[in-house]
Amino acid sequence: MAHVPDVPDGPDAPDTPDESRIPGAPGPPGTPGTPRTPETPASPRHPAPPTPPGSPGTPSTPRAPGTPGPLESPTPLAPPPQSPPQPPPPPPVTDHGGGVWSLPVPIPGNPLGHTLVHLLETDRGPVLVDTGWDDPASWDALTAGLAACGTSVEALHGVLVTHHHPDHHGLSGRVREVSGAWIAMHPADTELVRHLRGTPPGGWIDLLAGKLTAAGAPAAHVARLEAARAGDREPPGRRAALPDRELVHGELLDLPGRRLRAVWTPGHTPGHVCLHLEEAHPRGGAGNGRLFSGDHLLPGITPHVGLYEIYEPARAPGGRPADPLGDYLSSLARVAALGPAEVLPAHQHAFTDAPGRVRELLAHHRARLAELRALLRTPRTLWQLTGSMAWNRPWARIPYASRNIAVAEAEAHLRHLVARRLAEAVPGSHPVAYVAV
Ligand SMILES: [Zn+2]
Repeated sequence: MAHVPDVPDGPDAPDTPDESRIPGAPGPPGTPGTPRTPETPASPRHPAPPTPPGSPGTPSTPRAPGTPGPLESPTPLAPPPQSPPQPPPPPPVTDHGGGVWSLPVPIPGNPLGHTLVHLLETDRGPVLVDTGWDDPASWDALTAGLAACGTSVEALHGVLVTHHHPDHHGLSGRVREVSGAWIAMHPADTELVRHLRGTPPGGWIDLLAGKLTAAGAPAAHVARLEAARAGDREPPGRRAALPDRELVHGELLDLPGRRLRAVWTPGHTPGHVCLHLEEAHPRGGAGNGRLFSGDHLLPGITPHVGLYEIYEPARAPGGRPADPLGDYLSSLARVAALGPAEVLPAHQHAFTDAPGRVRELLAHHRARLAELRALLRTPRTLWQLTGSMAWNRPWARIPYASRNIAVAEAEAHLRHLVARRLAEAVPGSHPVAYVAV
C-alpha cells in the first residue's frame, strides 16, 4: 500500500525539496525533486514520509503546490501521523575509508532532514558527489563538513551531480564560484536544468493545471492552483548552475588515482546517474566496490517516479510517450547486477545487499501494477483511478498537494501498463478513461 506523505496542504504550502515532482509537470524549477515514494513492504521504513523535496525524500525546498513528496511508502496502512514528521537528527561527518566521506547537508524545512554529500579524494584534489540545498545554513554545514574532513571548498577539483534536483545540485553553482571546480551531470538532466532556467515564473502552474484537467480532476481542484499563482516565488531551478561536463553512461571518469564509472539510472529523473567506485572495499566487504546511488537506491524510501513530461518530446521521437517507471525498473536491474559491497545513498544511511533492496523495490512496483490492473477492470479516468488506489489513509483525508503527487505516481504506473499493452485508453472517452486489456 502506498503511503502518502504529509504535505502541508494548499497551494501556499511551504517549499519542498527534492523529492517530489509534480505529477506530470516539470515541476517548478527546482522542485523536481524527487520524491521518493512508495516504500516497499518489508523494507525498513522510514518515519512518516517526508515531504518530497523533489525527490526521493523530501527535503525542503520551495515546493510548488502539488509538489509534495513521496507518496507511497513502505508501510502498509501506517496510521496517519499525529503531528508533522520531524526530520531525523543529522548523522556525523563519516569517514567511510579509502578516501571517501559523507557530510550531512540539511534540507531546511523538509522531513527528509538532510542530503548526504560525499567527498572523494583524487590525485588532483577532492571531488564532491552532490552538493546540497541552496540555503545559507546548508552552505555552512557543507563548509564545516569539508573542514572536518581536513579540506575546504576552495580545494575542490570537481562536482559530480547524481541528478538535477535542488537537494543535490542546489549548491553546485556556489561551489564552482568559490573553487573553480567543474560540474558534471548527465546530459538528460542538463537539458532539464536548461529548460527550467528558461521557464517563466508560474509556468509550472499552467502545466500542472493542464495535466490535472486531462486526468479528469474536478474543476474546483484545478482552480486551487490559481491561488498559488499570486504567491509564486521564483523556483530554485531558475538559478540552477549549468554543468560544464557530461557524465556519460559506462565511462570511467577522468579522476586520477580513482576508478569511478558513471552508470545511467533513469527513472527518478531522466538523467539520474549512480557512480560505481570500482575499487576493493576498504574494510574487505564482499562484493564489487561501492556505489554512490543518489536517490536511485535508498535503504528505506522508494524514490518518487512520476512523469518526465517536459522531457518527453526528446525521448520519444517516434511519438511513443516516455515510460519513467519502465526506465526505473530497468535501472534497478542494472545496479543490482553491479553487486556492490556497499551502497552510499544521498539520504538516510549506507547499506549493504543492494540486490536484496532492488528485489524489494521491484516487488513493490509489481504489486502496485497488479492493483491498478485490477481496478481497471472498470474503466476509470486517471483521477478516478488515483482515488481508488490504496494509500496510507483514505483519499478524503489526503491533503491537496499530496493528491497531486499521487496523481503523478498513478500516471507513471498507468503509463507503464499502457506501454506493456496491459491497459489502453477507451476510444472516444473524455476525459480519457483507461481499461485493462
Ligand atoms: Zn534527494
